[in-house]
Amino acid sequence: MSDCLFCKIIAGEIPGTFVYQDDRLVVLKDINPQAPLHVLVIPRKHIASLNELTADDDALVGSLFRRAAALAREHGYDQRGYRAVFNTNREAGQTVFHLHLHVLAGRGLNWPPG
Ligand code: AMP
Ligand code: ZN
Repeated sequence: MSDCLFCKIIAGEIPGTFVYQDDRLVVLKDINPQAPLHVLVIPRKHIASLNELTADDDALVGSLFRRAAALAREHGYDQRGYRAVFNTNREAGQTVFHLHLHVLAGRGLNWPPG
């Protein structure tokens, strides 16, 4: 996707702070963190949103969530608590249309969310 921000960061065309990478996904520090830990778990494959997932992506989505749990554990938040969330489309506040799992931790996270 030539006009996609996260595709460009993954391709190295735009700078980003990577905290993990493997053959299927990358983890980026969010540029505007909303908690002491705020990273984005992003598949290398361009998928616009949850709405575009197919059964072929099931293993990929599992790996995104397992990476989120690993990050929380590595940062010492697995027992305290953390949130892993996909925003989808306008009313949920999605601004970048390349699937990304937000992982937030390090402060009390309100529920219901705003
Ligand atoms: P969403 O609003 O759910 O689509 O999330 C997009 C996230 O990407 C926001 O939390 C932004 O702060 C973050 N973001 C936007 N541009 C960048 C960038 N260049 N590098 C890292 N994170 C970014
Ligand atoms: Zn993309």
